[in-house]
Amino acid sequence: MSIAGNVALQDLPRICPLVSRRVQSSAFVEDSHVVQVRDVRFGDQRPVVIAGPCAVENFDQTLAIALAVRDAGAEMLRGGAFKPRTSPHDFQGLGIEGLRILHEVSRETGLPVVTEVMDPRLVQTVCEYADMLQIGSRNMQNYPLLIEAGKSGKPVLLKRGMAASLCEWLGAAEYVANEGNLNIVLCERGIKAYPSGEYSRNVLDLNVIPAVKEETFLPVIVDPSHATGVSGMVESASCAAIAYGSQGLLIEVACDYAGAARPRCDAAQAISPATLRNIVRFIDKHTGKQVLLRKVHAV
Ligand code: PEP
Ligand code: MN
Repeated sequence: MSIAGNVALQDLPRICPLVSRRVQSSAFVEDSHVVQVRDVRFGDQRPVVIAGPCAVENFDQTLAIALAVRDAGAEMLRGGAFKPRTSPHDFQGLGIEGLRILHEVSRETGLPVVTEVMDPRLVQTVCEYADMLQIGSRNMQNYPLLIEAGKSGKPVLLKRGMAASLCEWLGAAEYVANEGNLNIVLCERGIKAYPSGEYSRNVLDLNVIPAVKEETFLPVIVDPSHATGVSGMVESASCAAIAYGSQGLLIEVACDYAGAARPRCDAAQAISPATLRNIVRFIDKHTGKQVLLRKVHAV
């Protein structure tokens, strides 16, 4: 049954045949579809940890955080050069200068970089500096942007719109896939639902993880930072997400370095490298168990 204007899950194979597991499973996708970003593999055995600052603020800050998250076990660096802010009077990111910093830090640390692109006209430019394009929650249904990201062929991290249904989210992924680009990783980042804002920024929709896996072969990860907005909740949210089957995490981290200042963006949700390390340890234990279980089944 569907309500006027809404679609039911059973319509997904018609709406997004290219990313639908039900349509594509026999054709070329078996159990999983691996999205590779340099040597990092999403959708493979081990969940991928992406960590870094909310916004790139300067070279020293980005390098210090990148080194700290790499030491803690992160495999990829995040950081916004173009920041979607509620107020035009707030820090908007360093723009192209931020991209240059990310590129240089990536070269120094060996960590592949994901960064947000908001403007379809900037997709090519961001592709020159980054290894993966992030399409943010606010732009999930920016169709010209999705089409450009699709045409670029670069891996895309597609965040769920803050009020998007699963059908709308996969419909957005279909736009990227329709340009011949199946290098898409989905990212749940919390939705606006009662009681968003009272004690956490958003509501982390863990239930969507198994639902995504049922409907599509695209890997799905979780952003516990924007989902909670509270640094003290990020570790629990991360572990819960992994236990629920998330294939990775996207986490905001801040750390001390010479000249460090309070982050200009999302300071309340940034965790320390030590907390990130705890999360990576949890993944190690959890993955160990899973590998063991798989072996048992294989016998
Ligand atoms: C971000 O990850 O930097 C970000 C702005 O997240 P979202 O689009 O989920 O709000
Ligand atoms: Mn942020």
